[in-house]
Amino acid sequence: MESFGVEGESETLKAIFLPSVSPSHLLPVVDIARIFAVHGVDVTIITTPANAAVFQSSIDRDASRGRSIRTHLVKLPQVPGLPEGVETINASTPMDIALKVSEALNLLEPQFRQIFHQLNPDFIVSDMFYPSTVDAAAELGIPRLIYVGGTYFAHCAMDSLERFEPHKKVDSEDESFLIPGLPYNLEMTRSQIPERFKTPTEFSYIMKKVKESEKKSYGSLFKSFYAFEGPYEELYRTIVGTKSWNVGPVSSWVNQDVSDKRSRGHGKEEEEGNGKASWLAWLDSKKKGSVVYVCFGSMNNFPNTQLVEIAHGLEDCGHDFLWVVGKINEGEGRAFLEEFGKRVEASNKGCLIWGWAPQLLILDHPAVGGVMTHCGMNTVIETVDAGLPMVTWPLFAEQFFNERLLVDVLKIAVPIGAKKWKSWSDFGDEIMERGKIGDAIALLMGEGEECEEMRRRVKALSQEAKKAIQIGGSSYNSLKDVIQEMKSFKLEKLNPKDEKPLA
Ligand code: UDP
Repeated sequence: MESFGVEGESETLKAIFLPSVSPSHLLPVVDIARIFAVHGVDVTIITTPANAAVFQSSIDRDASRGRSIRTHLVKLPQVPGLPEGVETINASTPMDIALKVSEALNLLEPQFRQIFHQLNPDFIVSDMFYPSTVDAAAELGIPRLIYVGGTYFAHCAMDSLERFEPHKKVDSEDESFLIPGLPYNLEMTRSQIPERFKTPTEFSYIMKKVKESEKKSYGSLFKSFYAFEGPYEELYRTIVGTKSWNVGPVSSWVNQDVSDKRSRGHGKEEEEGNGKASWLAWLDSKKKGSVVYVCFGSMNNFPNTQLVEIAHGLEDCGHDFLWVVGKINEGEGRAFLEEFGKRVEASNKGCLIWGWAPQLLILDHPAVGGVMTHCGMNTVIETVDAGLPMVTWPLFAEQFFNERLLVDVLKIAVPIGAKKWKSWSDFGDEIMERGKIGDAIALLMGEGEECEEMRRRVKALSQEAKKAIQIGGSSYNSLKDVIQEMKSFKLEKLNPKDEKPLA
């Protein structure tokens, strides 16, 4: 059942969506593509077979619901050193292979251009990691919208870092400094900001290209909602100087059916045969709001020592927990976790998910009362949408900025006390001890007035998230607005103002 109107007026508007290949970029862009299709736009998503496998079942369901949406497959070119069939970048992808995947994707550029010419779209929505699509769209005389991962908040903060370089004015890694030009006094330390702001890396070069293409784009699409970070949305438009539309929460807008929620991100509907998944049976047996859900996204690779601390922290915290340990290779860490899993299962305190968790379903479950997260932007929005407070444990990318938004501005999270930014491929030497993990969970799940206040605030934001995608809500209106602009652009292209219309 959908809670928004479907209008037939934009049937002839054709769009191409080009998502990137890591789950946290692929999933929201596919969700956004599906939202456009719900609203009558004819959508083609271009991707490789392994990436399509992750979301094709949702596209098939959408097509059977009468939406004009399909996937166009391209084969990832062979690059020396890239194993056959490796087309995605996730926690199990070593850095050298991730670079090979990027190299192979770059080789696809001429093919993308050719497909754009063949399919003749009215506009293109491309992930930020395909900067050349801005020129390809210009060649066709059509708008390119860029999908920018992360929050407006983080982008404004990172722009200020680039512009004013406040981190260069402190003497040590742990001295805090003010990031100027934001609507609130954002303080960070040098050890918490991404490496590229301190030392030029290969990623700095990539981000320079991304930023240039962002400014040359017709506009950008974000996946949060106005009540979540409205002042930063407005600031971002001023900084970048382009249009921008905030159309979230995207995951709940299109994944309203259990089958869509269950298959999101891994293509399969059932993880464990045809019976009820063991995590679900376990959650069903728990009291309302009593369980902490612990998940660190799709790129996480904690060292064994950290896994041991998390395990003890959870076992001793006094609350039940559902922990997504992900794919752990054979070895000491796996053997420890298997033992740990058996023990907490026997005591009925915890449940472990090995592999991919159907996160949207879990967040919806009434037994879940709080979330421990690495502050990946998708998880943050999904958690706020579900009305759950968080323990924030930022690790990499723009996650330390997201933490400040959740803790200082919105006051819906308890910080665990992470001090060092890491690269997703190198977790460095910071180990969060079990005591800190337990303390943060105690504050998250506690019964004091402060905890209740935090819960009330996040519930209120969840209501705003739900309103945002209803007819007349902020994200709904943004979507209508961007579709209308794309139509106007198309009409103007067909009938330029300086030419007399045909009699
Ligand atoms: N996700 C999931 N199951 C998992 C791990 C992740 O469904 O076991 C989804 C999660 O719902 C989110 C995305 O994958 O939509 C992860 O994105 P996020 O920005 O939170 O973190 P990242 O993967 O970039 O670290």
